Order: sequence, then C-alpha cells, then structure tokens
Amino acid sequence: MMRITMDITPLHQVEADALIVPVFEGLREQRFGAAELTDAGEVTGKPLELTLLHHPPGVSASRVLLAGAGKSDGWDAAQLRRLSAAAVRYLMTKSLKRIALALAPADASAENVSAAVEGAILGEFEPDRYKTGDDKKSVERFAVVVEGNSPDLAAAVERGRVLAEAQNFARGLVNEPANRLTPSALVEAARRAGDWLVCKPGCTQCCYGAFAINALDALRLRAGMETLRVDEPALAAKIEGRARLWMEEHRAEFPGDAATGLLGDTEEDRARFEDFANETACPALDPATGRCDVYAWRPMTCRVFGPPVRVEGESGDADEVALGHCELCFVGASKEDVTACEMALPQEAETRLLDEVEGAGETVVAFALLR
Ligand code: SF4
Ligand code: SF4
Repeated sequence: MMRITMDITPLHQVEADALIVPVFEGLREQRFGAAELTDAGEVTGKPLELTLLHHPPGVSASRVLLAGAGKSDGWDAAQLRRLSAAAVRYLMTKSLKRIALALAPADASAENVSAAVEGAILGEFEPDRYKTGDDKKSVERFAVVVEGNSPDLAAAVERGRVLAEAQNFARGLVNEPANRLTPSALVEAARRAGDWLVCKPGCTQCCYGAFAINALDALRLRAGMETLRVDEPALAAKIEGRARLWMEEHRAEFPGDAATGLLGDTEEDRARFEDFANETACPALDPATGRCDVYAWRPMTCRVFGPPVRVEGESGDADEVALGHCELCFVGASKEDVTACEMALPQEAETRLLDEVEGAGETVVAFALLR
C-alpha cells in the first residue's frame, strides 16, 4: 500500500525517484534546467502536459516531472486532483516507486493538500492488479512537499486518503472477481429468478422518485462524473444540466440543507422526505433512451433494486428480516420462490468503508452529480 507523507524539506533536498512540479501557462519555468525547453515551446504549462527531466541540475530527486497546470488564475483543488492523478499514473508506467509533489507555500491549503493526495491514490489505482499479483507498478511512497513551515495538514492528508480509497473501492466493485461482485451476484440472482425478474433496458420505474444515498454512493457517483468530464465532456454537461434543473425544481422543499445537499436527520426531515420529489425522474436517467447515464457508478440501491435483498424489519430488530424486491418482479411468486432468489450483498466491505467516511451524511443523486 502507498505510504503518504507531508514533507517540509527544501525542494532541492527532496529524495525521490520523481518530483512532480506544477507549471503554469504564461510563466517561464527556469528551474531544473527547463528554461531552454520552455523557450523552445516544449514546456507550455498547458493542462496535463507532462515533461520528464532526467538528472535535473540542483536537486536530489533523480527526475523532475513538469506537470502542466493551466492558467494560474483558474487553478483550483479539482485541477490539482486531476494533475496529481495523471502525473502518478504516468510515473507508474516508468515503474517509479518514490514520488513527491511540490506545492508552493501559497497553494498549500488543506483543500489542495487533500486533493493532491486524493489524486495520487486515484491515479495509482490498478483494477487488474489482483489478477496477476503483479505489484511492480505500485507506488511505495507519495509525499506532498511544502517548503518551509506549514500548518498541520495531517487531517487534510487523511481526508484525501479516505476519499480516494472509498472511490477506489467503488471502482473495485465494478471490477471485482465474480464471487464478490454485485453485478455478478445480480446475474446469478437473475439466473435463479428466471421469468420472475422482468428488468429490461428502458424499464425506468425504479428511476422515478428521490431516494437517499450514503456517502459511499455519493463518492462513486462523483468518481464517475470526474471520469465522464474527462472522457465524455458533452455527456457530463448534459447530466449536470439535468441535475441543476432537478435541484431548482426541488430546492424549496428539500428536507435538509439545500446548499450542501445533505439530508436532515430529524423526525420531521424524515417525514418530509417521504413526500419529496416522488414523481420526478432521476437526473442521471437519459429520458430519450430510458438508460442510466452513470450505470457503472450507480448507487447500491439501484444495483439491487430488482431481485430480493435482505432489508431490516420495521422494528429495527436484526432478527426480523424481510426480503424486499421491485413490485414489478415476482408477481404471484410464493415466499419460497422469493427466498430462493435472494441476492447476496457485499455489506461488510461497504460498512467498513462507510465508517471511514467520517461526518458525511446522506444526500440525493442530483447533488452527487454536481461538483
Ligand atoms: S427493478 Fe423493476 S422498475 Fe427497475 S428495471 Fe427492474 S423491473 Fe423495471
Ligand atoms: S442512478 Fe441510474 S439507475 Fe439509479 S435511479 Fe438514477 S438513472 Fe436510475
């Protein structure tokens, strides 16, 4: 597992296989012997342009990776997260193990440090690593370097780590081996259910009406949207547009904090949520095709809506267990038929990671689709 540290060592003394240095458009980077490349137009600072310098003069690090950060006036934590992820991914292809990222003291806010760590862990994620047991490409150490004194940023490092690991867990769910993967469990449940399960593309009843999602679901959606913003920006913009409309329509009666999107947890809030947005389509649903635009990252509720899954009894007693399923499915089925088709869920792993996402409450899909 990658070890994450904060480092206040002067830049030229940082010991690393590669030191990532953000460079901005319009600023002439002269350090590390880069002036010539900058003047020749090879280092422009354009977003995510990566230039690897070997044995750069004046620093202990074996390599410096100049990472394009775009214009300095638009520089924010989201861009830093992307830069960190892209740089770490690139350096991993070179099998480099000890990586550091330099932040100017003025940029060393808690939000930025958290984003740098989050990006590094997201960038290091290798969905196929378990298949081969090949760990050659993993990063051993990632340090955020802020020269001189800086406030205690340990909490920011930890927050970035938890956010990224939760997202990687979500990505892992999409790629996990067959015996643990929800889609595989779904396929197996569907096989057993036969004609009792009537799910098909374009059937959208389960995509109408607001439902609460937990912090892990929200992180999954956030990770998905980050991917779409890079890979399919037009689709991401369409989804965001629908999410904004959804929020405008329902902001006034939102049973919680309409600014943060967090649902309230009082009795009154819960009662209001029962009647909240019950007739409206989920903003992730493409109304033209009836398909989910964030299918790979959809919340757990959506993954398990059709077949029977275990739900807590109304009394909250763990022994009082009921099997819930979509009302369109298992019409006329006996209790035994339903029980035979129960789908197993990866509850333990979900609960463990949810515990780590401290302080984050429940929200709704629309909020998780927006930045
Ligand atoms: S869970 Fe129900 S509403 Fe959703 S696709 Fe399946 S049958 Fe249709
Ligand atoms: S996230 Fe996707 S599957 Fe879930 S309700 Fe929205 S459109 Fe339907």
